[in-house]
Amino acid sequence: MSKVANVVEVFSSIQGEAKYVGCRQVFVRFSGCNLNCKYCDTVISHNEHAQCNIENVAGERNFVQMKNPIDIDTLAEKINKLLILPHQSVSLTGGEPLCRADFIHEIAKKIDCKLYLETNGTLFHELEKVINDIDIVSMDIKLPSATGRILWEEHHQFLQIAKQKELFVKLVISGETTKEEFDQAITLISDIDCNIPLILQPVTPIYNCTSVTPEAVLHYQGVALKKLSDVRVIPQTHKFLDQM
Ligand code: SF4
Repeated sequence: MSKVANVVEVFSSIQGEAKYVGCRQVFVRFSGCNLNCKYCDTVISHNEHAQCNIENVAGERNFVQMKNPIDIDTLAEKINKLLILPHQSVSLTGGEPLCRADFIHEIAKKIDCKLYLETNGTLFHELEKVINDIDIVSMDIKLPSATGRILWEEHHQFLQIAKQKELFVKLVISGETTKEEFDQAITLISDIDCNIPLILQPVTPIYNCTSVTPEAVLHYQGVALKKLSDVRVIPQTHKFLDQM
């Protein structure tokens, strides 16, 4: 059981991705990740931080710094303080939040809101520890072209556990995405449940990652719709709203 965790930041903002785009959430960004995606826009969260930035009043961007690691009661109090303004849920994000699964299991009972897990969908043993604490699972499928790794088995195991809860899958598509790996991802989801919503997220170009063409976006959505009932294309909206 872990009573402390290294946390990068806590703040209230607008969910910019996937099914709950536009909803107000409190974001708790944990440090640490087990992957290294080419398009990662939160490299800041890969390493442990000496200080955590915590917003004092929801949306006012008046951050205070607290020494890491932070204990459960202190973090829960700071999160609940932001929840005085109604929020759709508290987003546990990172990095990969399941690197802190024991801590999440402990803090879950102290947070007065739904919990939304933003995860890369690979740490299925860790998911088992918290699945009863989580309300919504936003699971990425990570393609080999993005990570340099084959993660199909991990994703399969993860989906089997995550489907107990409200679940949707997010798949980032870029100029590097291949048709073969895309097809494999769609088959992986449809073999488990063709009604799992899929959100295709055209990559926000960063580093050496190239954007996907408009024609390719239509092609990928068409391919996915042949096997899945709900396939939407939603980019990272917080980037053009200039939100955190
Ligand atoms: S899983 Fe997420 S946080 Fe980790 S490297 Fe990939 S994009 Fe970045």
